[in-house]
Amino acid sequence: MNQSTLILDYSKEDLSDILEEWGEPSYRLTQLWQGLYHNLWNQANQFTSFPKGLRQKLGEHFIFQSIEPVGESISDQGLTRKVLFHTSPANPIEAVLMQSKDRNTLCISSQSGCGMGCVFCATGQMGFLSNLTSGQIIEQVLYFARLLRREGKALTNIVVMGMGEPFHNFDQTLQAIDRLNDPSGFNFGERRFTISTVGIVPMIRKFTALKRQINLAISLHAADDDLRSKLLPINRKYPLDMLLEACREYVKQTRRRISFEWVLIQEVNDTPEQAQKLAKLIKGLLCHVNLIPLNPTQGYQGKPPTKQRIQQFKAVLEQHQIPCTVRQPRGISIQAGCGQLAAVHQGQSR
Ligand code: SAH
Ligand code: SF4
Repeated sequence: MNQSTLILDYSKEDLSDILEEWGEPSYRLTQLWQGLYHNLWNQANQFTSFPKGLRQKLGEHFIFQSIEPVGESISDQGLTRKVLFHTSPANPIEAVLMQSKDRNTLCISSQSGCGMGCVFCATGQMGFLSNLTSGQIIEQVLYFARLLRREGKALTNIVVMGMGEPFHNFDQTLQAIDRLNDPSGFNFGERRFTISTVGIVPMIRKFTALKRQINLAISLHAADDDLRSKLLPINRKYPLDMLLEACREYVKQTRRRISFEWVLIQEVNDTPEQAQKLAKLIKGLLCHVNLIPLNPTQGYQGKPPTKQRIQQFKAVLEQHQIPCTVRQPRGISIQAGCGQLAAVHQGQSR
């Protein structure tokens, strides 16, 4: 075993093999899995039902933590919390917990930085640093699950919408989701996960073929190739007709609703003309549009539209019977909003 020693990087089958090799009875696997994913333990010495020798062996063989929380920022009266972690060797990632009356949604990262270069995104502006392992993706979830459990709460939704392009780290992302879904462990449920992609067409097709229950969101942001390529360089490789065809195939094959995200930028893509083009593009598709007023980032000059322009854009979609909602900005003062994750710790701000 010369790869990772992070215990969360191992599937149940891997751990079963290791315990068997160590000559342990099969019930140890259940105890180990439940300890990790049900009791949320992150130290070998918490496994007190194990004999001391086995506990020691676990501690020698595995590490239980590979991303270190190095900063926390809080806003929206405590309802939005962003944590900056460092992987070793010291690549930054961020995760954001957003609480409301009936939801505790966690936004997690799949990569440190991102190589897709979308012009308005702070993560894109920092470039690609590294892919996270499945265990490091899981660790973000367990960190917040532990924090919420202390308050008698639990996560309700997990969105892979933090740093990075999950379809460029798909295997690790899917393994993380699978491990978190295991009914004898964290038991989260596929339907409570959402993966957001900038539109990597071959991966959308691969994902479709898997016929999973995980929700899919596509970052669209423009309804013609000229504009989309200016905002999202990846559009030159996977232009809109290709992307929309893959989306239609997804809905057809899975019979699941697809979400489109549209970051609204004043006088760039918030015009009635873009709204009309968008409506034409997705008319008749089982979908939902999330309108996200642009969050400010250092490397981009654009502005969010006025409330009136946002409502006008929404009205056009509604005229075409396209369901849409305007996403309320969260955590803007702590740079925790969509696309603001750049791993620059801002300190606390309430
Ligand atoms: N890479 C994936 C997921 C992470 S980005 C993707 O692009 O879909 C998550 C969402 O935040 C995307 O819809 C992205 O377009 C949006 N986003 C990026 N920068 C933003 C900004 N400055 N303001 C608002 N939303 C932004
Ligand atoms: Fe990467 Fe998504 Fe940001 Fe684009 S919007 S740079 S794909 S994280």
